[in-house]
Amino acid sequence: MAGKTIVVVGAGPVGALAALFASSRGYQVHVYELRPDLRNAGTQPLNFTKSINLALSERGIHALRSTGNNELVQSILERTIPMHGRMIHTRSATGTISQQSQLYDVHGRYQRSIDRGEINDILLDHLASLPNVKLFFQHKLTGADFQKKKAWFEMMDKPSSSGRAREIEIDFDLMIGADGAHSATRFHMMKFARLDYQQEYIDCMWCEFKMAPNASGDFAIHPNRLHIWPAGAFMFIALPNLDKSFVCTLFGPVSLFNRLEQSSQDEIVATFDKYFPGVTDHIRPDDLVQQFRRNPHLPLINIKCSPYHFSDSVVIVGDAAHAMVPFYGQGMNAGLESVRVLFSKLDQLSRVDEALAAYTDERKADAHAIADLALANYTEMRSSVTSPVYKLRKQIEEFLYHYAPGLGWATQYSRVSFSNTRYSEVIIKSQSQKQILTWLLGSVITGGTYAAFKIFRKFFRQH
Ligand code: FAD
Repeated sequence: MAGKTIVVVGAGPVGALAALFASSRGYQVHVYELRPDLRNAGTQPLNFTKSINLALSERGIHALRSTGNNELVQSILERTIPMHGRMIHTRSATGTISQQSQLYDVHGRYQRSIDRGEINDILLDHLASLPNVKLFFQHKLTGADFQKKKAWFEMMDKPSSSGRAREIEIDFDLMIGADGAHSATRFHMMKFARLDYQQEYIDCMWCEFKMAPNASGDFAIHPNRLHIWPAGAFMFIALPNLDKSFVCTLFGPVSLFNRLEQSSQDEIVATFDKYFPGVTDHIRPDDLVQQFRRNPHLPLINIKCSPYHFSDSVVIVGDAAHAMVPFYGQGMNAGLESVRVLFSKLDQLSRVDEALAAYTDERKADAHAIADLALANYTEMRSSVTSPVYKLRKQIEEFLYHYAPGLGWATQYSRVSFSNTRYSEVIIKSQSQKQILTWLLGSVITGGTYAAFKIFRKFFRQH
């Protein structure tokens, strides 16, 4: 395929990485992006009116490293802040505010907080310097014929004399759709492939807030933690920024957002003070209310579909193939990993249709697995983190992970975030560990009960 044309639709982080992989294999790469040049638009990504901070973890870094461009990876890592664990903020029954640190990994591995706009900009800057890559901004995919390998784009910046956007027709050898959760590539592919598709809006909205540096210009709270204020049915989180501010997000059911939207300023502040202790010490109450009213209240979508390709003509990656809720911090990481897997199949197999089919086969199981894990992690973050049973299980698992590495024991979190084990295998391994742990705990409890019964019987006989 070298010398042939790969068209990438979407220049988000996943599309940009796909373009980089394609370019390094000698393809002519044309990237079409709906928005204006994202580098000139500040850090504002698509589908969001503001930038968000992401947790970049092993899978994403491994995929970036697989480009072979260590300098590029280094420049991305330099723009990250390590988050060694969670900081759980709660209020005790007596009203005392407390913070509890829960490290992510007994071996010291960590997540990295990065502004999504920054990772995107670095990748795009690099792409723009490559001779076999062309970037077309403000080009919107409007149609595609995947039998004839033709596609149509609207040029948003060049309206015709009638005022309507002009359309161009292009040819390609392979189209990679990386155009996000509401993918036009996927939509047009559906007319050719027998594509199963499942979309779910979960009962959760999100709104972003900014926590500025404190009066001395420093981080207002611990910089190397992902901060969580769990409140049962909802939660508030904060991720650090290089400028010493935090990007915070309120996640909660639609009913909570509806109620807060109808509430007065004092009621909003009272809700925050009740459920997210200490937040209004760091975000001024009037600023907090303004941010809640000004910033968009956005839904969360979960998309499962299959196959991810049609013939040797088109393939989808990233959110276009597997948009998931953000509670495992894996959406972008999984998208970058998908690009790595896709190109490993293209490298291994000489026929493109077979490579795309192999990609679908492998990725479907894994993408569906992480989508399920991400949904389950919402419960963990907003409530389980404070439960004694959860903490006990975490401690036992970490103990075994640390002191009995020969057993191959590892926490689910570390397998997802700090390894490249396939997501589908993570689920299998975690389930078998859970069974062993339940059996062990059950044995301890049964043994203890039996011993207590014997002591009681002896005591009863003696008296
Ligand atoms: P996108 O970033 O959506 O990019 C798609 C691109 O396609 C856009 O640039 C768009 O303009 C372009 N496009 C769309 N339609 C067209 C068209 N018709 N023609 C041409 N171009 C088009 N992930 C993590 O890994 N870690 C996290 O901590 C994390 N936190 C998150 C927190 C929140 C609140 C949310 C909502 C998501 C989070 N995610 C996280 C998920 C992550 O943001 C996404 O998985 C990631 O951005 C997907 O990248 P993408 O390139 O596939 O899609």
